[in-house]
Amino acid sequence: MNSKDYELGKKIQQLLIKSNLENPIIESNIAKWQDSGYLQELNTKFADFLQTLGLNLSNDSLMKTPDRVVKFWVNELFYGLDYKNFPRISAQKNSFNYTSPLISSGITVNSTCEHHLVSICGKAIVAYIPSNKIVGLSKINRIVDFFAKRPQVQERMIRQVFVTLQDVLETQDVAVGINAIHNCIVLRGVKDSATENLTLELGGKFLDDDVLKDNFYQASLSI
Ligand SMILES: [Zn+2]
Repeated sequence: MNSKDYELGKKIQQLLIKSNLENPIIESNIAKWQDSGYLQELNTKFADFLQTLGLNLSNDSLMKTPDRVVKFWVNELFYGLDYKNFPRISAQKNSFNYTSPLISSGITVNSTCEHHLVSICGKAIVAYIPSNKIVGLSKINRIVDFFAKRPQVQERMIRQVFVTLQDVLETQDVAVGINAIHNCIVLRGVKDSATENLTLELGGKFLDDDVLKDNFYQASLSI
């Protein structure tokens, strides 16, 4: 079975556009990523930039760098910009009538700061209270990873994950926490290597019920 679902991806994109949460992108260019001629054009432009910067690309070690970086960005680091890569979500009816919070903790977040193009690395915690639908648990990790694999700001990324989960899980009762180290803080300006940045998004019962809310806050601090 194909692990991608472009139809669902397009639906989620409309939801993000409506919620004013889509990344600033030029969609017609991303659509050309499948085209080898376009990848060659990206290689040439990136090689030109590196040479203009002062790197000698005729050197053995650097010769293939533009090609490597373009492939890496398009296929791995920024694959989440292309909705053709949106994960297929296998859902089933909640026939067990499980109605307690389900919590996935320690989800890896490897993203990229869109202001400096350096890594944002951390962990996410996701909780939801199933209504009529439950999803395969690894799908939560895949949704987090899809939005992480874009040039990002943490506040937008967590909102994208949150509204997407509310939509696919068909419930408001969703909570997301992301705790991450931004390598632009490590490498630039204040050069602080230990600062962890925690963002939280709570919906439905996680917002209204003080016990659920407090417990989720506490759990998010220790991911
Ligand atoms: Zn940054």
